[in-house]
Amino acid sequence: MALPRVAVVGGSIAGLTAAALLRDAGCDVEVFERSAAPLAGYGTGIVVQPELVRYFLERTAITLERISVPSRSIRYFDAEDGSLVGAVNADWRYTSYNALYRGMLDSFGRERYRLGHALVALEPVNGIARLRFANGPTVECDLAVCADGAFSTARQLLFGISPRYAGYVTWRGLARRDALSRRTWNFFNDHFTYGLLRDGHLIAYPVPEGAINFQWYWNVPEGPEFERIMTDRAGRGTRSRSMGTLFPARRATNSSGAPPVASPSFRSSS
Ligand SMILES: Cc1cc2nc3c(=O)[nH]c(=O)nc-3n(C[C@H](O)[C@H](O)[C@H](O)COP(=O)(O)OP(=O)(O)OC[C@H]3O[C@@H](n4cnc5c(N)ncnc54)[C@H](O)[C@@H]3O)c2cc1C
Repeated sequence: MALPRVAVVGGSIAGLTAAALLRDAGCDVEVFERSAAPLAGYGTGIVVQPELVRYFLERTAITLERISVPSRSIRYFDAEDGSLVGAVNADWRYTSYNALYRGMLDSFGRERYRLGHALVALEPVNGIARLRFANGPTVECDLAVCADGAFSTARQLLFGISPRYAGYVTWRGLARRDALSRRTWNFFNDHFTYGLLRDGHLIAYPVPEGAINFQWYWNVPEGPEFERIMTDRAGRGTRSRSMGTLFPARRATNSSGAPPVASPSFRSSS
């Protein structure tokens, strides 16, 4: 009996994991990813959850030690005055988006991984699924797996659901070990650190290849301030902005990735 032909839309963590599992089960699987290039530099750190690494651990020679680093505690600081609010022991591990993506892409292989394919239409036709992509092709399959992320086109097409603003923006980045003083590295390494703020919070934790992942969550209601943040230098509204597209004034305020009110441990690398 011919096994199902499967089209996976979205070639990130969920799409590649589904694709590899279905391929291992004998299905004829192709992945269609909107991005024209492999997803390098797409994200930063990720806390390891069992589901995230299950494929690696059960089906490949990739070990947890190879793709992640450990920490021993979670600590909570008042980020404005730097005082320790509390700490608990926690045996967590952290990986990076790039390590996960590379590992999953190697596991699935590149022959049936189609870049530059953005789904624009999806409909059931006589018991099969018909998918159309912006660059032209139409694909018919027995099963369509839609793993196209938080702004899913498929969810919009099938159910009319669009994402709503959750009420906060976030700055994130990586600080490489050689850009940090020993004191700063030692402060953040080996812990998951929260910095509590009146209108948000900061987090920092180590990731593989010698870096600290940092992130500032800032509660911003919809309105002029939010519009200003989400408008890039070219005057375009965006959902996500890279450092190069920030307005210079805002870039100066936030050059360390930290809010202006944060205490020294959260502000600088000195
Ligand atoms: C800073 C940060 C930290 C995070 N930390 C954690 C964490 O600690 N733990 C955790 O579990 N998660 C974390 N997440 C979330 C994590 O990134 C997501 O859980 C994960 O990336 C989701 O994977 P995904 O494959 O479902 O979706 P995504 O990674 O969003 O991938 C969706 C893919 O679909 C593609 N796509 C979109 N539209 C189309 C289309 N129309 N046609 C074809 N392709 C399309 C996109 O290009 C993309 O490659 C974090 C996210 C960020 C941004």
